[in-house]
Amino acid sequence: MNPLTIDIQRLQREINELALITEAEPPVVTRVLFSEADIRGREFVKSLCCEAGLALRADAVGNIFARWDGTNGSLATVATGSHIDAIPNAGKFDGVVGVLGAIEAIRALKKSSYQPRRAIELIIFTAEEPTRFGIGCIGSRLLSGVLSPERAATFRDRDGKSLDEWRQGAGYTGSLAAVRLPKDCYAAFVELHIEQGPILEQENTAIGIVEKIAAPSTLRMQLTGVGGHAGAVLMPGRRDAGLAGAEIALAVERTVIGTGSPDTVGTTGVFRIEPGAVNSVPSRALLEIDVRDTKLATRDAALAQIETAAAEICKRRHVTLQTDRLNADPPAICDGSLVKTVADVCRQLGVSHKKMISRAYHDTLFMAQVCPSTMIFIPCRDGVSHRPDEFSSSEQIEPGVRVLAQTLAQTTG
Ligand SMILES: [Zn+2]
Repeated sequence: MNPLTIDIQRLQREINELALITEAEPPVVTRVLFSEADIRGREFVKSLCCEAGLALRADAVGNIFARWDGTNGSLATVATGSHIDAIPNAGKFDGVVGVLGAIEAIRALKKSSYQPRRAIELIIFTAEEPTRFGIGCIGSRLLSGVLSPERAATFRDRDGKSLDEWRQGAGYTGSLAAVRLPKDCYAAFVELHIEQGPILEQENTAIGIVEKIAAPSTLRMQLTGVGGHAGAVLMPGRRDAGLAGAEIALAVERTVIGTGSPDTVGTTGVFRIEPGAVNSVPSRALLEIDVRDTKLATRDAALAQIETAAAEICKRRHVTLQTDRLNADPPAICDGSLVKTVADVCRQLGVSHKKMISRAYHDTLFMAQVCPSTMIFIPCRDGVSHRPDEFSSSEQIEPGVRVLAQTLAQTTG
């Protein structure tokens, strides 16, 4: 194979261009699933794939596949990819580096006259972020079969609009049952992503190779108390759903700290009260709680403890509680030989690297269920992510794209 030329300026321009497709005022990036900005972002990425000579298709949930055929059609495909949806008030690198970076990796391979024996597919996953439906990785969950089409059909956003309505409105029709990947359809999956943590930058290391992804889970708690006039309802008679929620949020913190494991984290990231007026006792509260650990048993014990604490709090405060476990996923163990391939590529290219754990979850968590998978992490400034000031420099992105390209070559040649 000829040496690879990565056009990092072009990639940087494309990252900047996609960042302008946002529901918010730039530099803030907000691209919630199937919003107008998400749909325009998808069009932008598809146009780049077309220019790169890739064949496009999409499935019923809106996962997009851009394919470069291999010379031997009987071999399983090697896939790469990530997401372009972005939570409200996000930055321009999360997910995007793995999508636009993969397009640049493929362009570099083509420019070098490389001919893959296996096909290479770029996957742009639907809804990695949980913003619209409270559950993330909808696309990769359906692909891997972890999420059933029946359950996906029950998803509603906060206005009651269903996943079916949203996807069909965006032009993705057909049965969700057809989304699941056939067995052995991919030989490997590699996702390029920013670290979203500070370790690589602090240690001045160019590449992190992910060996394991922490086990994420989400609880949704709906609390119903009794509202009333803030002046007229005296304190002893109150059934304040807001205060019960506040106690639960503190119980989450207490529980995860109490596990004694530095890897256990818990966050009450959604906390809405109704009716939300200064002179009205909160009658309802909605909490969404994220709990993670690298060890499944520790995570599950924390989840159970939080549920018990919430039940006790609500009973004491005479507030009714409905708890749903939106997801409680196991950790993903990445494929040892694929991790070794990426490490060998780093050594060949003279790029500094280390093996690490991903504490954020990614589509790879689910792709690891269907094929050997790993992730290539690059540093980001101060470990900041999900914020408009999220930043990785061209000098940090370039080795990631190079290592991805070389890994794709190694696994498809
Ligand atoms: Zn991401």
